[in-house]
Amino acid sequence: MSDAKPLALLGLTLEELRAVVERFGQPSYRARQLFDALYGQRVQSAEQISTLPLEFRRSLGASEFSLGGPRIERKFVSSDGTVRYLMAFADGQSVETVWMPEGDGGETGDGSEAGAPPRGWDRATVCVSSQVGCAVDCRFCLTALLGVKRNLTAGEMVGQVSAVLNDQHVSPPEDRVNLVFMGMGEPFLNYESFMKAVLLLIEGVGIPASRMTVSTAGIVPRIYDFGAEPVRPKLAISLNAPNDELRAQLMPLNRKWNLEKLMMAAREFPLRNREKLTFEYVLLDQVNDSEENARELAELLQGVRAKVNLIALNPGPGISFATPAEERVERFQSILTAARVPAFVRRPRGRDIYAACGQLKRTLELAEPG
Ligand code: SAH
Repeated sequence: MSDAKPLALLGLTLEELRAVVERFGQPSYRARQLFDALYGQRVQSAEQISTLPLEFRRSLGASEFSLGGPRIERKFVSSDGTVRYLMAFADGQSVETVWMPEGDGGETGDGSEAGAPPRGWDRATVCVSSQVGCAVDCRFCLTALLGVKRNLTAGEMVGQVSAVLNDQHVSPPEDRVNLVFMGMGEPFLNYESFMKAVLLLIEGVGIPASRMTVSTAGIVPRIYDFGAEPVRPKLAISLNAPNDELRAQLMPLNRKWNLEKLMMAAREFPLRNREKLTFEYVLLDQVNDSEENARELAELLQGVRAKVNLIALNPGPGISFATPAEERVERFQSILTAARVPAFVRRPRGRDIYAACGQLKRTLELAEPG
């Protein structure tokens, strides 16, 4: 083995794979076989690609190319079924990816074959990370304490999904899997790789764009770019405060892209038929969760086709805010609802294993002492 960094196959488009197979003197139709094996079958090694001739498999296996998926380094299982994975990449960096099964797998029907064994869930969501750490510095988020180490490649984002699907023995589109780009990092500060991953996940892995949501802290120019994409996931915006003063305290990026700019991008965002924007709002006890804040938020969102997801703070070491009592959360929600702003309270998933929103950091520390 040389010291040269292995070239990852995972993350390459069909066109890019064509260039690879040609380098090996193979006909270009082999690129399609490679593509299907990588993304559709999610093989773990070149040897497993049974559609390719043995000789090509061997030379691929011996070459500078590797499949390039992450290794599942650790796995934590919550009492609510949530699983948090620590995914390690070739360079030793790691991120967290979360599996969240929902429903009870009962009779209500998800299209699974009659007679199939019950599996305990109807649909599941995978929460994908886009960067190692994060640069945005939101005051209530544990990931922020890491700073940003680097962007993930498209292959590393697709690889998180593949590794989880393989570990859970799940295959879309037969199994209903949603993706949320809400793990570690700010996807819109790694925009091109994020969009490339989205297309590979749609075309290769078979997860429709309608089952994907990306969440941004409010990188305004990228919201416009994203709206212009011919194929795209749904959009969520992390709002977290109803006025500039408070938002700038909680999310310093508000000084660069304030609420006027953010809300203008939101209002101009080209929504599809029946599509809604999602605004996420982390409730911090006595900080942004008053009745006045709720009224201000309802006012801010008037005329926007949107819903609000309220999340009571998931606490963590180094975070100085507190989680509001349930009555405060309910009161906040009811003020929004009364003002005809649809609002939902998101229940935390996997808090006991530190898998909930804003808590993705712990294992990283454990894995990288010092
Ligand atoms: N950078 C992107 C995506 C990752 S954060 C973004 O900011 O949207 C995903 C969501 O988790 C955001 O809505 C964020 O506001 C929320 N969040 C962050 N820290 C949290 C915490 N401690 N408790 C609850 N939600 C949190």
